[in-house]
Formats: sequence, C-alpha cells, structure tokens
Amino acid sequence: MEDVFSSPKVLALRDEVLAASHVAITAHRSPDGDAVGSALALRHLLSGLGVKSTVVLPDAYAAFLHWMPGHEQVVLHEQEPVRSEHIIQNSEVVFCLDFNALSRAGHMAGILEAACASATLVVMVDHHQEPETFADLMCSDPRAGSTAELVFRLMCAWGEEQRMTQEMASCLYCGLITDTGSFRFPSVTPATHRMAASLLATGMDHSRVHSLVYDTNRLDQVQLTAYALSQKLQVFAPHRTAVISLSLEELERFNAQKGDTEGLVNRALSIEGVNLAVFVKEDVGRVKMSFRSRGSFSVRDVAAEHFHGGGHHNAAGGACEGESLGEVLSRLESLIPEWSHRLQYDD
Ligand code: 5GP
Ligand code: MN
Repeated sequence: MEDVFSSPKVLALRDEVLAASHVAITAHRSPDGDAVGSALALRHLLSGLGVKSTVVLPDAYAAFLHWMPGHEQVVLHEQEPVRSEHIIQNSEVVFCLDFNALSRAGHMAGILEAACASATLVVMVDHHQEPETFADLMCSDPRAGSTAELVFRLMCAWGEEQRMTQEMASCLYCGLITDTGSFRFPSVTPATHRMAASLLATGMDHSRVHSLVYDTNRLDQVQLTAYALSQKLQVFAPHRTAVISLSLEELERFNAQKGDTEGLVNRALSIEGVNLAVFVKEDVGRVKMSFRSRGSFSVRDVAAEHFHGGGHHNAAGGACEGESLGEVLSRLESLIPEWSHRLQYDD
C-alpha cells in the first residue's frame, strides 16, 4: 500500500497551511487521549511554523488529559457553539483528526459539512477503517495504531522534524500510549518505537506523562471500578465473553465524571479465556457501548451491524438512541451465543 504522506498533495498542503491566516483543528466527540493529543500537537507544530490555529472540539474530555500544553486554549463547541462555528467559518484550512465519518463529530457535523461544501480546504488525518471520503484531502492509514503517529508522519513529510518541542512531544506521546495500550497492541511496529524514540530525544518526561494519564484517579472513580468489577461483571464462559453494564443511577452514586469508566472494558478483556468484552453504559438519551476483542473476532463489524457504531478490528464503540439500557443488554445477550463459535480461539 502506498504511503499517503508521500503524495505531492501532502507537500502542497504545507504551502496552503503556511499561506492561511487561520487554521482550525477538530476531532471526534468525547475526545480521547489520541484525539486531544493529536490536535494539540498539530497546533504546536503550526505555531512553530508561524501559523495561527485554534483547536475546536465537539465536547469536553476527561480531566486526566487537562495537563496537556495548550489545553487552556481549546474551544468546546458544546460550551461555545457560536464562537466555534465562527472559527471554522473563518479558517482557510480545517483539520479533522481521529475520525472517519462526519457523524463522529456529534453536533459539529453540520458545521464541518458546510466547510466541506465551501472553498475551505478540509483535511482528514485518521486511522479508522473504511473512511467516508468527506474531506478534500484524505490522509487515512488504518494500519496506524494512533492518529498521533500520522501527525508525526505529516511533520516528517513536511521536513519539519526539527520543530519538535517537548510540548508537542508530550501531546503526541499521550496519543501514542492511549491508543496502543502503552505499546501493547498488534498495531505497534518498529516505526511506532522509532517515533517514541524521537519524542523522548526532546527530553520530554515520558514517565510523568504515564503518571498523569494513569495514576491520577479520584477515590470515587476507583470505587466505581471496584463496584463494576465485583457487582456488575457477567462472564459468559462458554461464549468467552464478559459484559459490564452501568446505569445512570449507579454512575451518579459514584459521582462519575467524564473518562471515569475508560479502561473498564479492558479489565473485562483481561480475564483468562475471555476473547470479547463489552461495556454498556447508560447515558442521557442514549446507551453507549465499548467493545474489545482478542484475535480474529471483529468488534468493528458487530458494532457497525448491530449498534450504530464502528472503530477498529479489536476496539470499537457504538451508541443506541431510543432504547433503554435493559433493551440494549437483552439484545446483546441474545447475540452473544450467535457469535460464540467465532470466539473459540486461543491466542
Ligand atoms: P472506546 O470504546 O474507547 O470509546 O472506542 C473504541 C474505538 O471505537 C475508538 O477507536 C473509537 O473511535 C471507536 N468508537 C467509539 N464509539 C464509537 C461510535 O459511537 N461510533 C463509531 N463509528 N466509532 C466509535
Ligand atoms: Mn485514535
């Protein structure tokens, strides 16, 4: 497969960006470490190039990402819709990071769709499978473990590696570790580690980044995790599947904040013999789902087919509107035996 970043269009993009009076950078709703890290890293790169830019995200992100340099300047569409729209409309270039379909931008989808239809140059940089071709320039590589790696490759394609700062490196490192399970997932390659080496060479404190991301839990959050694992974990052993669900009432009981349940689904997948883990969370007006699998079972396919979702082969998500938590759970439970024969592998 050809490297998308070797295309002459990617080189030409550098000139377009340098000529722009303002650039906007956005990412998917409920932004994760890769979305926020990639967006802020790109902003640091652009500011090194003397280009003004603003990161505009659909909604808030977890407190364990607030340490990132540039966080204070992020504009949230859910809090400032008029200002957000104004920024997008007044940017000559708009970067869409870490999502493969406009619907993943939540309430910003309409604004971005309008940008795509206008003279604005819309650039997508993403690593999800089967992207919709909404952008003018598509920098999509589903083999990459994170969008952070693609922002790094964009920087290298532009010949701007020397612009890497500790600030930018720590944002990219956060994206890298959160989307690769700290270098564990099959998507990790020698190139991933070479990139990590470049980031560490700036003198960036990688150990501090791990602590800030993984060791800053609130007591409530740890107790919610303990409750979910001890009271709400169901293991369907013959089907090699584990399910955790939490209702709004349970989340409120533990004063749950954005990001508090991140990682729960991985705990379910860590059980020996389990090849599929599902976390089902009640939200206001919808039920959100996280899927993780080991091996050949594609959670992206089942999330897309049954739960209005998508993602990657071994990590995907979905959301159901107009269905109660109980309804989603019973639908899931009736599907699990159908998947059973595809989950009977050992690896
Ligand atoms: P998580 O379970 O961590 O929220 O998401 C896992 C993966 O699935 C991420 O790559 C994320 O982008 C994708 N994903 C999560 N929720 C959705 C969704 O509602 N729709 C789609 N298409 N992808 C999702
Ligand atoms: Mn990502």
